[in-house]
Amino acid sequence: MRKAVNDINRCVACGVCCKECPRQAIEIYKGCYALVDTGVCVGCGICEKACPAGSITVSDTEEGR
Ligand code: SF4
Ligand code: SF4
Repeated sequence: MRKAVNDINRCVACGVCCKECPRQAIEIYKGCYALVDTGVCVGCGICEKACPAGSITVSDTEEGR
């Protein structure tokens, strides 16, 4: 299943992805970076397109992490 993965080194914690995610699968962890709950993410790709830093990638994942 496709899941969003955030590169925390590029993320600027702007919160845009949290607002755009239709599943509310993303939160800003301790004000530092976006954390994706992969159990909730449905891999729609909206956050990937919305992220101004280009830090989110949606791709196929074997494990349900
Ligand atoms: S891929 Fe879709 S469901 Fe998953 S975190 Fe991004 S916006 Fe939310
Ligand atoms: S939109 Fe991108 S830069 Fe902003 S919090 Fe989300 S992952 Fe980080």
